[in-house]
Amino acid sequence: MKQPELLAPAGDLEKLKVAVLYGADAVYLGGRLFGLRAGAGNFSEEEMAAGVRFAHEKGVRVYITVNIFAHNSDLTVLPGYLDTVRAAGADGVIVSDPGVVELVRKFHPALPVHLSTQANTTNWSAARFWEKQGVSRIILARELSLDEIREIRERVGVELEVFVHGAMCISYSGRCLLSNYFAGRDANRGDCAQSCRWKYALVEETRPGVYLPFEEDEKGAYILSSRDLCLIRHIP
Ligand code: SF4
Repeated sequence: MKQPELLAPAGDLEKLKVAVLYGADAVYLGGRLFGLRAGAGNFSEEEMAAGVRFAHEKGVRVYITVNIFAHNSDLTVLPGYLDTVRAAGADGVIVSDPGVVELVRKFHPALPVHLSTQANTTNWSAARFWEKQGVSRIILARELSLDEIREIRERVGVELEVFVHGAMCISYSGRCLLSNYFAGRDANRGDCAQSCRWKYALVEETRPGVYLPFEEDEKGAYILSSRDLCLIRHIP
């Protein structure tokens, strides 16, 4: 059986080094533009190049996230940013927006494109579609069951990646407006305030201020957020 690649997030240069030194096969990171982790430290151009150098010296691959859903104005600066990513020595880019996929394929056809989980690939036909677009790896939607992943694996040749740990959205990966509405922070531009994880209460309309008891577990009740992913026990 092929040993899967263990890929870890690297929010900044220090975290990248920790991930590399503790055995990640690959890391992914965001530059200051076009990523979905606005809250993380992120990498300047110099840090990106230094991070790639450090990782490559240890035989670790580096993928750069370019996975926002771009607006027209983003597209004018995108080609220059892709040049920077390429010059830094990235082993691939993680992209969600079909328009960005097309531009990466046009300007840097040799740069591997990994389709972000944000693209919500939930079935083998969609996976086949993206394979035909030249995507070399699909990071599947987090909402899939193991059987669904297995069937997609059987039907497409493209590399597949799955999340084994971390936050789940109550909507499909970032496709909700809670954060935009409550905090003016756009989840699909990397700035989610995680509003679904705030504490909400159940109130009957004629009794304002009276919070009805609502308990899920000893940590409390989170009626708008889902259970997060933790598959450590499923990995030999
Ligand atoms: S508020 Fe919650 S469900 Fe909405 S995008 Fe943020 S993490 Fe996802």
